[in-house]
Amino acid sequence: MMGGHHAATGAAAWVTVSATAPYALGLYPASPLGVAAGALVCAGAALLPDADHHSSTIAHALPPFSGPICRGIGKISGGHRHGTHSILGVLAFTVIAWAAGLLTVTVPELGELAVGSGLFSLILVAFAAKALKFARGGGTLAPWLLSLPLAVGITVFAPTEWYWLPAAVGIGAFVHLLGDALTTGGVPFLWPWVPKPPRWWASTPVLNRCWQPNGYLGAPILGNAGSVREWILLVPISLYAIVGIVEATATGVVGVAPGWVMEAAQRLIEGRPS
Ligand SMILES: [Zn+2]
Repeated sequence: MMGGHHAATGAAAWVTVSATAPYALGLYPASPLGVAAGALVCAGAALLPDADHHSSTIAHALPPFSGPICRGIGKISGGHRHGTHSILGVLAFTVIAWAAGLLTVTVPELGELAVGSGLFSLILVAFAAKALKFARGGGTLAPWLLSLPLAVGITVFAPTEWYWLPAAVGIGAFVHLLGDALTTGGVPFLWPWVPKPPRWWASTPVLNRCWQPNGYLGAPILGNAGSVREWILLVPISLYAIVGIVEATATGVVGVAPGWVMEAAQRLIEGRPS
């Protein structure tokens, strides 16, 4: 899946988890700020697994540093689509986000500042801005300048408001895995344990696309990364994410799901047929 598409699915996943699903389940959803900012953070986190590739969005995000860092991550994690594309990798990213949240500085007038969460979010939102081409033509630093206000907000308002950061990072990274699993190539979900299928399985059509001879798993219904099918799938997903973020930002209303989603959820709760 392409960088921008990973970011869009990450944002949509956060809108679903923080707003639509809690509403459908009758739970109290995240604050509008948590929905909108979390969606951008989650969009950036959905790019993290490709930090193992030297030509990914992340690798080009902040030259000259990002390229060598990604090359290093690729080496440590065993190459592209290895360690960072596994449950273990998702856990590692989540733990890093959680650890970043522990880094706080107390300033007399402002109180406790969540420097770690702020910095981590700055990086992720800059990744998202770059992948989604928010700062097109603005040069290398434009995505970073765009994400700065949000990062400052996170620094000042955390830790009370930003407890969700590790969850957003974990969900974003996991959604990346799911996205890649829908394209040819598959994902080693259980890395470093990558069991290979028996010979009869490997020679059976369809089956050998889902559990591939190299042990990778997936359901490659989208075909190759960047296919027409991938683009078609991403149109409604992107629209859903945009509506969720805009509605949360603009109205500050607690439930940010689009009206029709809310109505459907309401009917579901009440058990009425639609
Ligand atoms: Zn990937």
